[in-house]
Amino acid sequence: MHRLPRRIEEARGMTASDNPQVLIVGGGAIGCAIALALARRGMRDVLVLERDTAGSGSSSRAAGGFRTLFPSEIGVRCALLSRDMFRNAEAELGASIGYREDGYLMLARSPQQAEAFRANAEMQRRLGVDATWLAPAELAAGWPWLRVDDVQAGVWCPDDAVFDQVAFMQALAGAVGRAGVELREHCCVERLLVDAGRVVGVATDTGEIRAGTTVLAAGIWSSSLAAGVGLDLPVAAVRGEVYTTGPVRRIPQHIPFVTDFDRGRYLRGDVVGLRISGEMGPSPELDDTFDPANAAAAIAWAGELIPTLAGVATTGGWAGLVELTPDFHPLLGLDRRLGGLLVATGFSGYGVMHAPAAGQLAAELLLDGRTTTLDISPLVPSRFAEGRPILLPTNPLQVGNAAFLGAGRTTARTGPSLDSTR
Ligand SMILES: Cc1cc2nc3c(=O)[nH]c(=O)nc-3n(C[C@H](O)[C@H](O)[C@H](O)COP(=O)(O)OP(=O)(O)OC[C@H]3O[C@@H](n4cnc5c(N)ncnc54)[C@H](O)[C@@H]3O)c2cc1C
Repeated sequence: MHRLPRRIEEARGMTASDNPQVLIVGGGAIGCAIALALARRGMRDVLVLERDTAGSGSSSRAAGGFRTLFPSEIGVRCALLSRDMFRNAEAELGASIGYREDGYLMLARSPQQAEAFRANAEMQRRLGVDATWLAPAELAAGWPWLRVDDVQAGVWCPDDAVFDQVAFMQALAGAVGRAGVELREHCCVERLLVDAGRVVGVATDTGEIRAGTTVLAAGIWSSSLAAGVGLDLPVAAVRGEVYTTGPVRRIPQHIPFVTDFDRGRYLRGDVVGLRISGEMGPSPELDDTFDPANAAAAIAWAGELIPTLAGVATTGGWAGLVELTPDFHPLLGLDRRLGGLLVATGFSGYGVMHAPAAGQLAAELLLDGRTTTLDISPLVPSRFAEGRPILLPTNPLQVGNAAFLGAGRTTARTGPSLDSTR
């Protein structure tokens, strides 16, 4: 069963001013990481509003994968920027998060994806990632328990990792409180307040709060809050499932995080047994309920990939919502269309692993007026309205995603067509 984090008492004990300099909507990985980065740079007049409990949205429903194998330079750089916090969680966050460098192994079944992996691996190596492109014979030699007769190629990174996303969220939210920031749970933001072309705060279920800058980090729920003030954030909801198993025999205890790219499925080792991904599909109604009835298809795929897993029993699982943008890159930056608003959403399936980078970069924008660590201007939230999506010619996944994402949209489309990614 999916575990929600316990109350974050340290954070609840803090009290922000009545008019915080920075108000963050959403206490998920992104909102908490931004709060922590601000506090560590000395900005503590920050209030995080979370309608439920910290991490209760998508963050504690993630699969707990950490990779540097991204298809874009900016993705790789954000992962590298984030890695220290995961590797050194006990020092950085004050708790163990079960971080284990089991490695990532991505498999391509189509020739196009195999070639994309080859080009990506060159770029990743140039940026300092230990990425190796592998032919099927090399895959069979390295991981003899995998069935690779239908696989065209793979890419392997031994430094990539798995972690416990619930422990990470607990540790992160606890660190926010210890750093001196109030994380107010069970406080729902009903709408953004706008005055003279600027967001000036929020209306909550317990009253209005004015703030210098408002950060919209409400995950998949950000789009509807933005739509309330006429702002289009093209983020589509895709429901994903994760199943757990008991102990499995005849494969090593610590297997890599294996991604079957063209099938959109993955599996990884857990403390006991495995986590196996289930169905993914558009969910405009934002349904994140877990349905154990879907386990059969997940186990059938796992048994095809690793024959010794055929018929393995599931012990539980969870479902959550992935927040996908048309170009699979986040919307991160000060919004040019409305003053006083920093948007941090649409992390497209990797928001937990990129949260430390998002926090650091957002803090630079808020405190310095620009980022110095990394140029994130390509991630500007208005890029689709401006016809400037991030296009990756080597990523076949981007081709043909428009209809899929269109089906998962939750708000009326007021901006450009999602077809702009084609
Ligand atoms: C099945 C699955 C597997 C995944 N696997 C991985 C993985 O291996 N690695 C990885 O890095 N990522 C993974 N992801 C993606 C990751 O979970 C998300 O990208 C990440 O959690 C986004 O963080 P967030 O803070 O933006 O959103 P959230 O965690 O959803 O946080 C937003 C918060 O805002 C709150 N909120 C919403 N509306 C309001 C409101 N009106 N007022 C106040 N608060 C509000 C919500 O309650 C929520 O807590 C996975 C996702 C799923 C579903």
